[in-house]
Amino acid sequence: MSTMPTLTLYNTLTRTKEDFAPLDSANVRMYVCGPTVYDYAHIGNARPMIVFDVLFRLLRHLYGENNVTYARNITDVDDKINARAFERWSRQRPLLAEMRDLTEGTVAQFNKDLKALNVLDPTHTPRATDFVANGAEPMDMVRIIDKLVARGVAYAAEGHVLFSPSKMDKLPGAPRYGALSKRNRDDMLAGARVDIAPYKRDPMDFVLWKPSNPDTEPGWHSPWGFGRPGWHIECSAMAGALLGEQFDIHGGGIDLVFPHHENEIAQSCCAFGLDKMASVWMHNGFLQVEGRKMSKSDGNFVTIDELLTTTKFGGRAWPGEVLRLAMLKTHYRQPIDWTVRALQDAEAMLIKWGAALRGSGVSFHPRSEPSAQHADVVRALADDLNLQKAITLMHGWANEADRADFSNAHFLVAAGRFLGLEPQKWDRRPSPATFEAVANDTIEPLIALRLAARRAKNFAESDRIRDEFVAMGIVLKDGKDADGNPTTTWEVKR
Ligand SMILES: [Zn+2]
Repeated sequence: MSTMPTLTLYNTLTRTKEDFAPLDSANVRMYVCGPTVYDYAHIGNARPMIVFDVLFRLLRHLYGENNVTYARNITDVDDKINARAFERWSRQRPLLAEMRDLTEGTVAQFNKDLKALNVLDPTHTPRATDFVANGAEPMDMVRIIDKLVARGVAYAAEGHVLFSPSKMDKLPGAPRYGALSKRNRDDMLAGARVDIAPYKRDPMDFVLWKPSNPDTEPGWHSPWGFGRPGWHIECSAMAGALLGEQFDIHGGGIDLVFPHHENEIAQSCCAFGLDKMASVWMHNGFLQVEGRKMSKSDGNFVTIDELLTTTKFGGRAWPGEVLRLAMLKTHYRQPIDWTVRALQDAEAMLIKWGAALRGSGVSFHPRSEPSAQHADVVRALADDLNLQKAITLMHGWANEADRADFSNAHFLVAAGRFLGLEPQKWDRRPSPATFEAVANDTIEPLIALRLAARRAKNFAESDRIRDEFVAMGIVLKDGKDADGNPTTTWEVKR
C-alpha cells in the first residue's frame, strides 16, 4: 500500500496553491455551481462539470468513496426561464408548475449530455425551486434572507430585499466584501453591470428577493410579498442545506468569481456568523470557440448535444469521450480554445491508446479485472489536477505497451478509467478526417516499424502490425519504389 500524496489545490481566495486539509476527512464536502437550465447546455457549461468530476473522482480515491459529498445545483428559476414558461402557460395550472414542466425537459437533456461525457452523478443535484420557501428546510432562501435582515446587512424596499455590502464591512467577524475577487468598490461598480434603482440605498447593493407579477411571473409568498429569489442567494441556501454552513471546496467557472461567488460568501458568512464559507475556491478558465467568444449571434455557439449528435461542428458527430479528453488536455485554470483540430487530436490520442492496448493483448473491457492505479498518476492529479502530466504518462505507457510490456498496458487502462475515459470506447474506428489528422504521429511511425520488420524478414511482427491496422479500419498496400525498396501506402477501408 503506497502512501497517499498530499493534495494541493489552487485557491482563488489566496491566489496560491495550498495543501488541502478537509474540515472533516470522513466527509469531504464540495459545491459546484451548475447551469441555468432554460435551454440546451453549451460546451462552456460542460467544462466545470468535467473538471470537478475529475476532482470528485480524485477526492473519492484519496478519502474513500463514501467520505465525499458533492453537491452541484441546477438553477431552474431565472428571468429567461420565467419568460419561456409564461409563453407556453395555458393558465390551467399554476405558472410554477408550468415552469417545472419546462425545466424537467432541459434537466433531462442536461443529464443525458453529462452521461455521454461520463460525468459521475454528484451526491446531490439540488434544484433551486425546491429551496426557496420549503417549510421543512431550515436553510431555505426565505429564512436566510430573513436572518440577513435581522442582522442588519439587508433591508426590504418596494417588494425587494437588498443586501448591503457596506453594512457587511461593519459586521464584526465577517470577511471583507471583495476579498475573493480582490476588487475595491470602484472596480466592482465598474465591473458589474450595476443598475441604479430607486429602491437601492447604494448602487453596490444587490438583490436577494424581488417582486413577481402574479399574472405573468412565477413566485412564492414571503414576508416581503409575492416574489422570487435573486440568483446568488440560491447557492447560499442549497450549499448550506446540503453541506452545512461551512464546507471544503466551492467551484465554478472563472466568470462566477464576481459578483456571484463574492455575493455567496457575503450572504452565507453574514447569515451564519462566519468568517468563511468554503476553505478553497476553485475556478476553471474561460472557453472560446475557434478563437472567439462563443455567442449565438456570431454563429459559433456550440451545444453539447450538437457536438454529440449533429454534424454542425467539423462535419461529423463526436463521441463523448473525445469531448471529455479534449477538455482535459488543457489545464483547468487555462483558457480553452475549442477547435475541430483539438477534437481530432484528442480522438487521435484515444485511437493510439486503443491500438496500444490491442497490441498488448490486455483485455480492456468493463468486466475485466480492475487494474491498480499508478502512483505517478495520482500524484500528478493531486498536484492541483495536473492532467497534462497524467496524460503524458499515459502516452508514454501507450508507446511502451506494444513492446509486450503488459504492466504498462494495465496502467494505461487504470489511468483511463480514473480520468473517466472508459478504455472499451477507445476500441473503435475513427473517421477519415481524423485519420488525416493522426497520420503523422500515429500511422506513419507504425508503417515505418512494419517496413523495418519486413526488411528484417520478421514476418510475424509485420503481420501483427498489419492486423493492428485492420482493426483500426486501415488497408495497407505494399509495393516497391524505383530502387526496389519496399514501400507501404495506406487508405481508410471503405
Ligand atoms: Zn452558484
